[in-house]
Amino acid sequence: MSYVRGLRCRECGATYPVSPVSICPECFGPLEVDYNYDAMRQAISRFSIESGPATMWRYRSFLPIDGDRVIDLGTGFTPLIKADRLGKELGLKRLYVKNDAVNPTYSFKDRVVSVAVSKALEFGFDTVACASTGNLANSVAAHAARAGLKCYIFIPSDLELGKVLGTMIYEPNVITVRGSYDEVNRLSSEVADRYGWAFVNINLRTFYSEGSKTLAYETAEQLGWTLPGQYVSPIAGGSVLTKIAKGFGELLRLGLVQGREPKVFGAQATGCAPVARAFKSGADVITPVKPNTIAKSLAIGSPADGEYAIATVKRAGGYIDDVSDEEIVQGMRLLARTEGVFTETAGGVTVATLAKLAREGRLDPEEVTVVYITGNGLKTMEAVEGSLGQAPGAIAPKFEEFEGRIRALAVAPA
Ligand SMILES: *Cc1c(COP(=O)(O)O)cnc(C)c1O
Ligand SMILES: [Zn+2]
Repeated sequence: MSYVRGLRCRECGATYPVSPVSICPECFGPLEVDYNYDAMRQAISRFSIESGPATMWRYRSFLPIDGDRVIDLGTGFTPLIKADRLGKELGLKRLYVKNDAVNPTYSFKDRVVSVAVSKALEFGFDTVACASTGNLANSVAAHAARAGLKCYIFIPSDLELGKVLGTMIYEPNVITVRGSYDEVNRLSSEVADRYGWAFVNINLRTFYSEGSKTLAYETAEQLGWTLPGQYVSPIAGGSVLTKIAKGFGELLRLGLVQGREPKVFGAQATGCAPVARAFKSGADVITPVKPNTIAKSLAIGSPADGEYAIATVKRAGGYIDDVSDEEIVQGMRLLARTEGVFTETAGGVTVATLAKLAREGRLDPEEVTVVYITGNGLKTMEAVEGSLGQAPGAIAPKFEEFEGRIRALAVAPA
């Protein structure tokens, strides 16, 4: 059994029993899971966590699941890499890369979907669905396959091939929509109301978003049960940034770590930066934008949790910045060249923003800094295709040809 007491509205504070609803019927504010932290403090220890499986489900006590069966493809407990070479380039002494590109469907979305699909089973749904910018589609389709649930995936028609094929391989029903993600999402909300399907990021959003907290728990555990001083998270809808902060806050509250809340830095693409723009202009309310960026997994023009992301950054201290498509590609290449990690465009956004924040003196170079890499570069190869130059032509399998090539390379190094 979980430690969930019920659901609580983030705006008006009204409380409700657990059900597949994510919006407050009174004020339309988002619902949050309400936990019994006193009982959690009694029951959860570092030792009890460390004796769990080497996946995100070692933090099951922090998650809103009451059923017997969880759908776990082996998500989480991904590497936290000490990034000395990248840190040196950026002048950051204690930098770590949390590499969530190596999850079962190659993005951090497996964390939220593992929770949401497990919850859908618990509620007795026979169909799961989502509106997606790509990674969520891959993950929902895979988890539905494993759970044996019917699956409908709604995607915009301009997605990268890697993300489309990476969904279709699991044989869900794919509904491709001529329109932006925000339009796909609006259509999906209408379908959710009428068809009674479990849309992981719509009617199950309250439970779904809790999965992101495991990024914070893992980071602290992997840092020897200490907190970073500051971290950089990408922002699409704004959920993962706020939930990482919630996760660190829970560890402090339960006495599992000591210290103070880390500073929070958000990263967006300039071609879709409604949250960064509002933050920089001092606005608390977000003006939606029409996305135009290669970072398609972050291209949400009307971010559901954008205002909460701003509130989190203001409370904890930090900043929200954005970077151009050119900088995104450079960010992808920088991470690959220095640390051997190939991330997708979203990771390029995060790394390029990290570099910009470091350059502008917004990060403390002495603090432990964590940068969250949320997706895999193999899914967005078109982004780097043009920037790496031509692969050199083939040589004959002859030693002289090899030596000729080596001499040519010495004259014109790559
Ligand atoms: C979905 C996604 C995010 C951000 O998600 P939020 O909507 O802000 O929670 C970040 N990176 C990748 C690769 C994603 O797919
Ligand atoms: Zn309310």
